[in-house]
Amino acid sequence: MSNLLADPRFDPLVSREAEIAPGMIVRRSLPARARRTIGAWCFLDSYGPAALEGDIAMRVSQHPHIGLQTVTWLFQGSVLHRDSLGSVQQIEPGQLNLMTSGRGIAHAEFTPEDAPHQLHGIQLWVALPDVSRNVDPSFEHHAELPRVSIGPVEALVFMGTFANEKSAARAFSPIAGAELRFAEDGIVTLPLDPTFEYGLQLVDGSASSEATQMTPDTLYHLGTGRTSIVVKGKAGTVLLLLGGTPFNEQIVMWWNFVARSSDEIEAARNDWEGAAERFGPVANGGQRISAPPYLIKVKPR
Ligand code: MN
Repeated sequence: MSNLLADPRFDPLVSREAEIAPGMIVRRSLPARARRTIGAWCFLDSYGPAALEGDIAMRVSQHPHIGLQTVTWLFQGSVLHRDSLGSVQQIEPGQLNLMTSGRGIAHAEFTPEDAPHQLHGIQLWVALPDVSRNVDPSFEHHAELPRVSIGPVEALVFMGTFANEKSAARAFSPIAGAELRFAEDGIVTLPLDPTFEYGLQLVDGSASSEATQMTPDTLYHLGTGRTSIVVKGKAGTVLLLLGGTPFNEQIVMWWNFVARSSDEIEAARNDWEGAAERFGPVANGGQRISAPPYLIKVKPR
């Protein structure tokens, strides 16, 4: 096995802070300057638990999406999802909320009033391939997901396929999303699909891979061609594994939209600002979040 530090296919994407709603600071590791996507995964925000200070809640009122799926995954706390289809769904750790925006949807996510204001989780987006990006919007909740034990690690597969386990969640491209938890101190050999690229992020605890001690909130990119990776971890350590076949389509990402051209972005922005039927209202979804002005035309990349 090669030394990861010398392996150009192992690029650390260090997260940066972003404010997604007033007072709600997240750490964003995707997209990064060096890399836009890992498989079809195009967005990864992490929030909590260190900055909690006793009272951090999710308060992201209604806003639109196009061209993507949102994946909500929690390690601690609970979040109530509402969308313009009428879905109302509370999510707990180990469960999946998956929203397919297709051509257009709006949603809101709040910490329920009666739930403890503690939060630790991630928000992911999956870019929809061109052939699927205008599908009807839909929402799925998965309370039960496939589990697999690999040595000291318990894996929970929330999207796509990992270690021969397949999530029932609807996916539009070959993809993998799994939470990996060390039940005890140990070393694990994780099976990988050589046609996939992967991203591995340390969520909690302490882990190393080959010669690299992993830093939290850093997404380590693994290029295609690997059949496995060895990870050493302490009991209680949690990792996030994302993967998929490289997403070779050029996309335009702006605000909450994934599109293919600047004109599409502008049209989606105007539809939202004009309260067009495309996005619909979210019942009890709080104030509509206004789109920023679209001043600089974003080029596909
Ligand atoms: Mn959203």
